[in-house]
Amino acid sequence: MHSIHQLLIKNLFQAPIQDHPEQEIVYAETLRFTYAQFRERVRRLAGMLLARGVKPGDTVAVMDYDSHRYLECYYAVPMIGAVLHTINIRLAPEQMVYTIGHAEDDVVLVNADFLPLLEQIKGRLDTVREYILLTDNNESPQTALPLSGEYEALLAAAEPVVDFPDFDENTRATTFYTTGTTGLPKGVFFSHRQLVLHTLAGLAALSSNADQGRFHREDVYMPITPMFHVHAWGIPYMATLLGVKQVYPGRYVPEALARLISTERVTFSHCVPTILHMLLSDPKCEQYDLSGWKVVIGGAALPKSVCKAALDRGVDVFSGYGMSESCPILALTHLSTDELLQDQESQVALRTRTGRPLPLVRLRRVDDDGREAPDDDKTPGALQVRAPWLTQSYLKDERNSEKLWADGWMNTGDVACRDASGSLRITDRTKDVIKVGGEWLSSLELEDIILRHPDVAEAAVIGKPDLRWGETPLALVVPKQGVTLPEKGIAHHVKCFVDKGVLPKEAVLIKVRLVESIVKTSVGKTNKVALREMY
Ligand code: ADP
Repeated sequence: MHSIHQLLIKNLFQAPIQDHPEQEIVYAETLRFTYAQFRERVRRLAGMLLARGVKPGDTVAVMDYDSHRYLECYYAVPMIGAVLHTINIRLAPEQMVYTIGHAEDDVVLVNADFLPLLEQIKGRLDTVREYILLTDNNESPQTALPLSGEYEALLAAAEPVVDFPDFDENTRATTFYTTGTTGLPKGVFFSHRQLVLHTLAGLAALSSNADQGRFHREDVYMPITPMFHVHAWGIPYMATLLGVKQVYPGRYVPEALARLISTERVTFSHCVPTILHMLLSDPKCEQYDLSGWKVVIGGAALPKSVCKAALDRGVDVFSGYGMSESCPILALTHLSTDELLQDQESQVALRTRTGRPLPLVRLRRVDDDGREAPDDDKTPGALQVRAPWLTQSYLKDERNSEKLWADGWMNTGDVACRDASGSLRITDRTKDVIKVGGEWLSSLELEDIILRHPDVAEAAVIGKPDLRWGETPLALVVPKQGVTLPEKGIAHHVKCFVDKGVLPKEAVLIKVRLVESIVKTSVGKTNKVALREMY
């Protein structure tokens, strides 16, 4: 009898390279090579790690910007049965010590830029046996860190692995930590089976639409969500499986990103709304043609103002939804051919929704008593999910894991409405909902309306304790450069939308405060926990 074919990452690797050996992988403005060379490099990386004593179950960590090297690690590390830990390069040193120790990293591949950081904490990284240097320019930096060698030199000297082993598809492949705005970061982890299924279902959803936002063979792919955060949404695996040209941008500098999009003819990307906003509003990026660029926005709600600005530049922008705990993609918004004929305002309303679930994903929304909320697009409910690729628990953390799961459903911590066609709209995070006199007021909807004011650059709305109402909304608003914006003007703008019936009447209680900037988390999202503490 034949053994059952296991869903292993190595099985995502062979066919596309066989089919597209000449296809290109590009690293910033530094390097380009073919898929055939990529295969050779992955084989050598695997050989190098084995020769350095990495065994199945060991953890190999990476600290790098988005690079071809990262992509090589996405494959080589799990393919030898080791676990890839993608280190969040923006964590504070204390959190870095914690995550490296907690994940029990054996080997760390580190970009030269982060050597000073590791030098500071190296005395406390008890599990790490070896450090390997990643550098773009063959330099040998002065460092107190005991380096075992440089990546390219080690690859050149390595014995390539040609036959990768078979093992149980439930073997852990990757680990990373949630951005944890309070308390310690929480580890999540995914198996080979989960990553393979996420890749197939994600690709089925992304490539199924006729005209809008379709990811297909002739696209050129570039991620702009960090490869350390949820495997850049797993899309590098999908891109390789499709056999498309891939561009890895290195550090995120808006002008350099816009230049790469234009010169490499990038047609498919994904990012958080803040990055898209930066690209669209940076005067240095204006000269670059972004038309025809398809961008999935996730990690936070896509504001209507940003969606409109993108459409005005010819960008095909749409939303996706997910989280660290869900590998991450759960839902996507695609417009049908008919919907694409609608006027811009209607399209903005559709493109900023949260979309429909991916194949194999089940979603439900419940009230405080566990009853399902009606699909009237008005009644919010706490969103729960089932899918084959959800983290089974937080790594070595029973207390938080118990809160994550209930009756076989994972609590997303989000609140959503759903219309009769099954399309979701996230209205808030459970902890960000503002409860005014017992009514739920959506901070996201308020932010969206405030951002439509022509003089507003950024906005965040939080709940402020109030004796009479329990909570009232407080808007923190960054005006556009060079404009004087009266706080009353914003409050009046909000009231107009209440009068039009767009916002509930509780929204008139809003207080406005002008600020110079809004604090962000390490992945560029509004940090509401910090804002609540500050204000
Ligand atoms: P963290 O939880 O550390 O901020 P995640 O990337 O896991 O990082 O964030 C997931 C959260 O981002 C979701 O739970 C949700 O609140 C928010 N989010 C993701 N996509 C969307 C979207 N399309 N619309 C609204 N919120 C979103």
